[in-house]
Amino acid sequence: KIFGDERLNSTAINIDIDSQWQPFNAGVAAFAEHYWYATPLPMTTTDVAAEIITVTAPYDRREVVGEVTFATHAHVDNAISQAANAFSDWSTSPASVRCRYLLLLAERLELHQHELVALCHREAGKTIQDSIDEIREAVDFCRYYAQQATQHFESPQRITNYCGIDQQLRYQGRGVFVCISPWNFPLAIFIGQISAALAAGNTVIAKPAEQTSLIAYRAIELLLETGIPAGVIQFLPGRGADIGPQLLSDERIAGVVFTGSTPTAQVINRTLAARECAPVPFIAETGGQNAMIVDSTALPEQVVRDVVRSAFASAGQRCSALRVLFVQADIADRVIDLIKGAMAEIKVGRPELHRTDVGPVIDSVARNKLLTHIETLKNQAQLIAQTPLSAECQFGYFVPPTAIEISHIKRLQQEHFGPILHVIRFKANELYQIVDQINHTGFGLTLAIHSRNERTYLDIEQRARVGNCYINRDQVGAAVGVQPFGGQGLSGTGPKAGGPHYLYRFTQDCIQPINK
Ligand code: GLU
Repeated sequence: KIFGDERLNSTAINIDIDSQWQPFNAGVAAFAEHYWYATPLPMTTTDVAAEIITVTAPYDRREVVGEVTFATHAHVDNAISQAANAFSDWSTSPASVRCRYLLLLAERLELHQHELVALCHREAGKTIQDSIDEIREAVDFCRYYAQQATQHFESPQRITNYCGIDQQLRYQGRGVFVCISPWNFPLAIFIGQISAALAAGNTVIAKPAEQTSLIAYRAIELLLETGIPAGVIQFLPGRGADIGPQLLSDERIAGVVFTGSTPTAQVINRTLAARECAPVPFIAETGGQNAMIVDSTALPEQVVRDVVRSAFASAGQRCSALRVLFVQADIADRVIDLIKGAMAEIKVGRPELHRTDVGPVIDSVARNKLLTHIETLKNQAQLIAQTPLSAECQFGYFVPPTAIEISHIKRLQQEHFGPILHVIRFKANELYQIVDQINHTGFGLTLAIHSRNERTYLDIEQRARVGNCYINRDQVGAAVGVQPFGGQGLSGTGPKAGGPHYLYRFTQDCIQPINK
């Protein structure tokens, strides 16, 4: 659909797509008009001073989606107490018993997919495809971690030794784990963190991003419906700046997992470091200055398809998204021409319509930052193309997909979390310098390489310090269990989510004698 030279009449195609999806649309539409609520859960403390916020749709700020009661300090204290009390029974129950709740949750997420899709559109501005992927990934996380925990933590591992003492290695939960999740994957990463922490034997305090508390609340309701024991899961919607310091400083907290921006991870890290009690693990998955390197042997048509998906799908609001395209000068004009053609075909608009490729960004703060960056660059760099916004975008937080040619990656001091593609040309003899420049940013999340020269892509792959490297394809949409995801340096601490080592970081291992 979005190849420059082979433009299709997308309006005609989309009428067909819409009618094929009728039963699905009807299901989603049934939930689209709901007024949603979220409060701390299970609600054991009421506090009259709690702040209530009204949630509006990112694609149309006149549309009210629901309201959220933010947690107060009393809620925080109560949630920690409840989760701490529930820990002993939960951590000593067999892994297979704990994981049964995750498998039940997976079923409930699938059963309620229509309302979850409606919520993903309305609260997070996600397109239909992104909303479906979101639910799919949440379900995958539940099943993958349930399988991993049952396989590795159900029975202790026998340790061979030569001293005549038989011992075993047992993995146990650590205590109360705080899960702080982002708005860009309000269901998938929210559920991914929680299911990992629970499967490993921890009780959980779930703190969703301020922008997407309603989706998170609905997921917690579904988890509670599985019959999970009281106290094991606590839900704390609220502003990080208000409740974060109290939550993270409490000595009953035994670990923190966070996905979000690098500066926020640094704040959390400092708060944890200042505690005068036992150090706890901190698992962070943060931002990236992700590049794609295209040499002159690459196939331009394939490159452009993968560039457009990597840079503009999900409105560029993925940690993995492409930010800087390095293209070898010999084919740069051809690739840039195709990018222009493809960008002219992108449909920016309301996320619940099948014809929409790119929806809104999350809120006015995000939009203003991105528009300011585009304006600054326009004065100093060469604009390649900008997809126009239609009238339906006027009441929402939309940013036009923008491609702009810059001279050096050093021009980008920070991650720009939206649909903005920076393009840099390079000469054949500069290939390795480019990899050094990418490494030099300090970020190390995703890298894509387009080349038909095996020596080139293997060399680049070995030099690059990134978590996820993709060859001759796009660089977004890592699949649970198949492409474990996570970065290095400023992009995160590891271990990779959806990978075989993730759960261990949520546990404490101990050696015990075997009673004969
Ligand atoms: N796992 C996602 C991907 O591969 C990105 C996760 C994120 O944005 O935090 O696209």
